[in-house]
Amino acid sequence: MTVNLLEHDLESLAVFCQQLGEKRFRAVQLFRWIHQKGAQQFDDMSDLAKSLRGKLTGVAHISPLDVISQHISADGTIKWLFDVGGGNAVETVFIPEDDRGTLCVSSQAGCAVGCRFCSTGHQGFSRNLTTGEIVAQLWYAEHFLRKHLKQEERVISNVVMMGMGEPLQNYTALVPALRVMLDDHGYGLSRRRVTVSTSGVVPMIDRLALDCPVALAVSLHAPNDVLRDKLVPLNMKYPLHELLDACTRYLVHAPRDFITFEYCMLDGVNDRDEHAQELVQLVRSRSQGAAWCKFNLIPFNPFPASGLKRSTQERVLKFAKILSDSGITTTVRKTRGDDIDAACGQLAGDVVDRTQVMVRMARRRDSVATPAVNQSIAKVEQ
Ligand code: SAH
Ligand code: SF4
Repeated sequence: MTVNLLEHDLESLAVFCQQLGEKRFRAVQLFRWIHQKGAQQFDDMSDLAKSLRGKLTGVAHISPLDVISQHISADGTIKWLFDVGGGNAVETVFIPEDDRGTLCVSSQAGCAVGCRFCSTGHQGFSRNLTTGEIVAQLWYAEHFLRKHLKQEERVISNVVMMGMGEPLQNYTALVPALRVMLDDHGYGLSRRRVTVSTSGVVPMIDRLALDCPVALAVSLHAPNDVLRDKLVPLNMKYPLHELLDACTRYLVHAPRDFITFEYCMLDGVNDRDEHAQELVQLVRSRSQGAAWCKFNLIPFNPFPASGLKRSTQERVLKFAKILSDSGITTTVRKTRGDDIDAACGQLAGDVVDRTQVMVRMARRRDSVATPAVNQSIAKVEQ
């Protein structure tokens, strides 16, 4: 069986090349061809010695994932459904904005955590993705977008591990994939622009701090253990005080000086004034005061099996105001790609600053996507 080179970070590709009797710089060349140029055929790698291309053909291949579907939203958001075999599929979402292009990447087919408000959680766990399957989402999206936007330079500037799955429950595949994203010979993304989102796998937060500290987002969703146990069952294993301790430990290594807390706004469940006040107390209970974290309030994207409702916009704004009035930087996430059902797990947020609520949720749709992206995407659609 030949090896899929998308499975390798640069270090393990160097070991692979060494086993073929090749020097490290050959691995660097190969890695650049794959990730920076999007090459899939060894014959296209013109500056690789013919003998090496021949050797590689027998033992290795570059296999992206098959695309089951591609949907393009009116706001420029693109959702791909990738086939990962065995009847499983994962989603990847591209979110264009004026100043960045964010790719939301999946880490597992399904998820074992089983959060009440999450459709992936309701679906149950199928399997972990491999490093190559995680990387393949970025590989495909980046090179698809470059080709169709006729752009030589990088299109994707940010990656958020906020697609399907709990990335920290697939740690051994995740870390090499993050390294490919960060590598200057790969996608060259800065640590600040790669975000791992977790429901709170405490021991793995500590490991990530040492192995590959990138930006961290923690899905909080509740201000106390009684409620969080119900919404995020992993809380029964790693309760809030342990989770917050892990977050403050992470700050020592983090590329940013704050942790982002995600908070899905559920009507009548976790969205009352008292919940916001309790959150303020929770955050202040840590020595760093209020400036060590930011809140990102996510309007819930309803699905029938959840039996839950989205909080009203008025409620979200009031909740945001309580947090921001107490000095906690708070953003409300815009829902993007609603029309193509791609709205869950996206990073874009509108800032609610400390003194004034400035949520612009009703921002004009067409101002959200980069016009060039919209135009080109319209062409792709035709
Ligand atoms: N498993 C990780 C990352 C994937 S979920 C985690 O839980 O953090 C990414 C984000 O989408 C999380 O903050 C999650 O709480 C949120 N989310 C899940 N289902 C949602 C829904 N139906 N509406 C809004 N946000 C949702
Ligand atoms: Fe899994 Fe995250 Fe969904 Fe919870 S919110 S079920 S951890 S994907």
